[in-house]
Amino acid sequence: MKQHYDVLVAGGGFAGVGAAIGAAREGKHVLLVEQFGCLGGAACHNLVNPFMVYWRTINGKKEILNGGIFAEIIKRLTTRNAISKNGMIFHEEYLKVVLDELVQESEIDVLFHTSVIGGQSVNGEVQSVSLFNKNGVSVVKADMYIDATGDGDLLAFVGFDYEVGDENGNCQPLTLCFNVGGVDYGDMSYFEVRKKVLSLYKEWQAQGKIKNPRENVLIFHSLLPNTLHFNSTRVIKKSPLSAEDLTAAEFEARAQMLELLDFLKGNFELFKTCYLINSAPCIGVRESRRVIGEYMMTADDVLSCRKFKDGIARGNYPIDIHNPTGTGTTLRALPTDEYYTVPLKALIPKGAKNLLVAGRCISVTHEAQASIRIMPIVCCIGEGAGVAAAMALSTGKNINEVDIKLVQQKLKKYDALY
Ligand SMILES: Cc1cc2nc3c(=O)[nH]c(=O)nc-3n(C[C@H](O)[C@H](O)[C@H](O)COP(=O)(O)OP(=O)(O)OC[C@H]3O[C@@H](n4cnc5c(N)ncnc54)[C@H](O)[C@@H]3O)c2cc1C
Repeated sequence: MKQHYDVLVAGGGFAGVGAAIGAAREGKHVLLVEQFGCLGGAACHNLVNPFMVYWRTINGKKEILNGGIFAEIIKRLTTRNAISKNGMIFHEEYLKVVLDELVQESEIDVLFHTSVIGGQSVNGEVQSVSLFNKNGVSVVKADMYIDATGDGDLLAFVGFDYEVGDENGNCQPLTLCFNVGGVDYGDMSYFEVRKKVLSLYKEWQAQGKIKNPRENVLIFHSLLPNTLHFNSTRVIKKSPLSAEDLTAAEFEARAQMLELLDFLKGNFELFKTCYLINSAPCIGVRESRRVIGEYMMTADDVLSCRKFKDGIARGNYPIDIHNPTGTGTTLRALPTDEYYTVPLKALIPKGAKNLLVAGRCISVTHEAQASIRIMPIVCCIGEGAGVAAAMALSTGKNINEVDIKLVQQKLKKYDALY
């Protein structure tokens, strides 16, 4: 590791990978810092799968909305036979390797097993960040910083304002995903499996035999035969920004996992010989800090399919809110043939000169975050952040003065869609 970089990216999820590659391809020397041992973020550490829809449908035809680096990831997964035909269910072990290859090809310096633990700033300008790893504590400087930690750790460390959760500060629930093998589902789709188990699940829940507050059983296929993926535990009213709460949530979610498994095994023929393959290394966080930026995207922007002049990414995923305090999930969808764009101003913390935020912690309301948070969209937000950081440096501007036309021109060059 050097002492000084052009761009430092904190966090190696889809947003961080997009940001790091976006900046590196524009000739910047990039350091990508990730607390765990692989890239991919929630896809790998929380076993989140599949990719939610990244296209719109016009007259029955798919038109891809998320291009650039995300499209390249899909292409490489396809080459390795590591993604389903519909481009949604992927194999996370192959994803790790695909992302390794991409960052290595872009000559990005990656530091795994390294946490960003602090940062210093003066008058809206970040001076340095503090890192912790097995070597100890070190300080590294960059000209531009991108917070892609999901939780907005860096923006908080350097003193920018943020919001957390809904109007009462409650975040969407925490969920531990897990995989179950040996399921004899034959030709049944996962929708049919969900339907088959629903009424008894609800009965057991009403009788207090199932404590999980989730209203149904959220199941997806996996790429592996006879295997189902569960995104169905629900831990509510715990703060994703408290180590004590996260610890309690891990305990509660693992108990919910076995509760659900016992219920399925004990009551349904297709689950009779099933077995637990794995649960995610960490419980998944849908929402935590959201920076207060130069612009804050709203539910209205999403639902009215607003196209911003400074758009850097597209999306059309519904506003999908899993009840932060109990049962129920609300979905507010856009027209399926439409999309909105994400403005660059939502990536710039208010008053920041050399810090961008990418991923689920950008400047959005609780509702808008529930749409932009999916993996295809955050990857493109990351790419937009990386390219914008690079363009600001190349033209000697602060990030809030960067020429958006130039950023969009570069994104176009990389087949990114905005
Ligand atoms: C349970 C659950 C189900 C979901 N279902 C879907 C789905 O079906 N489809 C879909 O497309 N999306 C889904 N999502 C949403 C999606 O997975 C996330 O919103 C998205 O992956 C966020 O990407 P990110 O890069 O912003 O953050 P993350 O993926 O969280 O990446 C952040 C990275 O930063 C690292 N990091 C954090 N703090 C530090 C630090 N201080 N120092 C160094 N590194 C740090 C983390 O280890 C991580 O690798 C789901 C999310 C959850 C939790």
